[in-house]
Amino acid sequence: RLYNELIELRGNIRVFCRCRPLSSDEMTRGCSSVVEIDSSQEIELQFIPSEKERKSFKFDHVFGPDDDQETVPVVRSVMDGFNVCIFAYGQTGTGKTFTMEGVPEDRGVNYRALEELFRMSEERSTSIAYTFSVSILEVYNEKIRDLLDESNDQSKRLDVKQSADGTQEVPGLIEAPVYNIDGVWEKLKFGARNRSVGSTNANELSSRSHCLVRVTVRSEHLVTGQRSRSHMWLVDLAGSERVAKTGVEGDRLKESQFINKSLSALGDVISALASKHSHIPYRNSKLTHLLQSSLGGDCKTLMFIQISPSSTDSGETLCSLNFASRVR
Ligand code: ADP
Ligand code: MG
Repeated sequence: RLYNELIELRGNIRVFCRCRPLSSDEMTRGCSSVVEIDSSQEIELQFIPSEKERKSFKFDHVFGPDDDQETVPVVRSVMDGFNVCIFAYGQTGTGKTFTMEGVPEDRGVNYRALEELFRMSEERSTSIAYTFSVSILEVYNEKIRDLLDESNDQSKRLDVKQSADGTQEVPGLIEAPVYNIDGVWEKLKFGARNRSVGSTNANELSSRSHCLVRVTVRSEHLVTGQRSRSHMWLVDLAGSERVAKTGVEGDRLKESQFINKSLSALGDVISALASKHSHIPYRNSKLTHLLQSSLGGDCKTLMFIQISPSSTDSGETLCSLNFASRVR
């Protein structure tokens, strides 16, 4: 594919847009689509909220409602020792979880990425020995929770610490070894189940927390003995929708302030990296601090901006498209 080569050739940040189909509910309510993607234009999207208004946005690639789940080539660099972050950003209901987790009959980036890693490991097995492990965590209200922890011990405090070699670590975070793709699927399912523990409404909570899967890749060259370790982060971000300014108070208000803060901190970091600023503000949120060693430098970043085609979502869609322009 076109973007396969693009990733190899140019800088380290890629921004893709993915527009989901209109849902049957939206169709019965008479919503129309305000997003146009010309199939000959794999990089341009037209946003047409009204007769008079038409805005066009360019991406490294655009996926339309009819595009299938695909393997994202950027994952391959983690096998060569580069750190990789893949994000899904967008309003709740636009397909972040669909893109990252997918559905059992049509799996998403997380599963496909791991599948690709095992395939490459097999292919290189005569010269390099690879081992893989998986951690799954949630960031909610600037607190880190280990989703692979069976005890679900609420008092267990996880935080980001800088280790001797200058990389960011989370002491105590469970790192589960995985030996094959079925083992990965089990862990992903366990993490997803654990995510909803303690919440009355799973969908509600999952839209207000960031869910991160960290894959650790270790390699040892069989001849030279050279070792390396790299991380791939697969991040299903909290919903980017602005909550109404009125009528929200207490916990819900605090929550939405934490979400806004961390998403804008992420935007600030990526746009600072894209414009090659010397100061990168990693410390402004738990999310960016956690990902510090995997954002910037030689690291590869890929962001899916997820949008809804529906006329009723056009305000939020514009916010997400503007966010994309900022990080590109
Ligand atoms: P989010 O995680 O952003 O809140 P979801 O991934 O839960 O959104 O998606 C909302 C709904 O839309 C789900 O029912 C999902 O299956 C469906 N959906 C999202 N993206 C697509 C797509 N590209 N094709 C088909 N259905 C999709
Ligand atoms: Mg979701």
